[in-house]
Amino acid sequence: MNLNNQKIINGLIIDPLIFTQKFVRACDVCICSGECCYYGVYTDKSEYEKIISKKDRILKSMDDSQTKIVEDWFEEEQEDNDFPSGIAVGTEVYNGKCVFLDKQGFCTLQKIAIEDGEDKWKYKPLYCILFPLVIFEGKLTIDDEHLERMHYCNKKENQVSTVFETCKNELKFLLGEKGFNELDEYRKEFLKLNIKENHEAA
Ligand code: SF4
Ligand code: SF4
Repeated sequence: MNLNNQKIINGLIIDPLIFTQKFVRACDVCICSGECCYYGVYTDKSEYEKIISKKDRILKSMDDSQTKIVEDWFEEEQEDNDFPSGIAVGTEVYNGKCVFLDKQGFCTLQKIAIEDGEDKWKYKPLYCILFPLVIFEGKLTIDDEHLERMHYCNKKENQVSTVFETCKNELKFLLGEKGFNELDEYRKEFLKLNIKENHEAA
């Protein structure tokens, strides 16, 4: 395998950084307060429509730190080819956090799905599921700019794992079982060749 060759799975270019980037072993909002949600997120237009269709259910689970004015939940639509529909819609920030983040650090979209016995990610935007992974200009990579802002999962002493290891379920969700297995094979080859090249350079 030539490390300069691009690996493409399900139409996404794979950035090998996802195999080596250090990360926490698991997210724990009791420690981090869900600070990755403090800035809002871009959703695909279809995700936005799905969320709005559940507005009455979402309202029931919001707490007093969240705005219940539905018109204040999203920004204006904008063109963005990183999204399947070609249109991105950002969530608004209210009280210093995404409108859907409650005061305990939980995403209301995930909370209602769990409370209703549905798949926990049914209403959650893909970009939220994936972080610190991100799809940028057709490449599956690390959202290093956003990760740098974090005070828990970006601290070296807490980074006892890698993004690949911690985010296996998220990668399976994105790529499917077959795509994930292909990714894992690529990872093994990449790490083997990387070790060999480093050894030869030493
Ligand atoms: S990505 Fe970081 S900030 Fe976000 S929930 Fe996980 S540990 Fe917390
Ligand atoms: S939609 Fe949910 S997971 Fe995404 S940024 Fe907002 S609170 Fe966080």
